[in-house]
Amino acid sequence: MGEVQVLPRRQTLADKTYDELNSRIMQSVLPPGAKLSIDGLARQMAISQTPLREALARLEAEGLVERRPLSGYTVTALLTTEEFNDLFDLRLLMEPLAASRAAGRVGQAHMTGDGKALRALARTPEYHSDAKLSQLAFTQADAKFHASVAQHSGSGVLAKAIRRLDAHLHLHRAYLTPESISETEAEHLAVAEAIIAQQPLAAEAAMRRHLELSRVRHAAAFTADEQADAKKQAKK
Ligand SMILES: [Zn+2]
Repeated sequence: MGEVQVLPRRQTLADKTYDELNSRIMQSVLPPGAKLSIDGLARQMAISQTPLREALARLEAEGLVERRPLSGYTVTALLTTEEFNDLFDLRLLMEPLAASRAAGRVGQAHMTGDGKALRALARTPEYHSDAKLSQLAFTQADAKFHASVAQHSGSGVLAKAIRRLDAHLHLHRAYLTPESISETEAEHLAVAEAIIAQQPLAAEAAMRRHLELSRVRHAAAFTADEQADAKKQAKK
């Protein structure tokens, strides 16, 4: 109990500010591409600039806002349809290869005992009543699983190339249904089991199938978001 009071007030305020801004961005109250005025936000939220800057720095590190010299902070733009398609085309080139390589290496010392860990990472978190929290937890878990497969490929170049796509950062604002979260778990487990069973062809096929299905699920979410945005625009 006492610990809460010991926390410096500034830190609590920065956390609250972060939560508030994060929620506004996730719900498109602050839409993609929106300019963020530090003065304006500080006044509107009745806080000083210090916690606000702290919150913005954290959002920047997570890729939700961008800072440009002279123009300040803006909410990161969502992917265009073309960028979305490029992203999945590139993932389909690299990630099935990573899964295949990981399956080929599994007998080696570095993977000993990692089978369990990979299987655990394949699991997606339980759907929570708070859709936004579920979405974030799901995205983080999904990112970890894909990063782990990439690392187990044994190719630093491949793992880095996959990491640099920042796929999860770009996808996580699109709403996913609870069904798609459980479908993802089944597909991840298929990838993990093929890697653990040292079957490169099966691992490659399972990752390809997962990405193709994931692409369809995310495309549906993007379309739903666009329709919601169009409605909001029409109301203005
Ligand atoms: Zn996945």
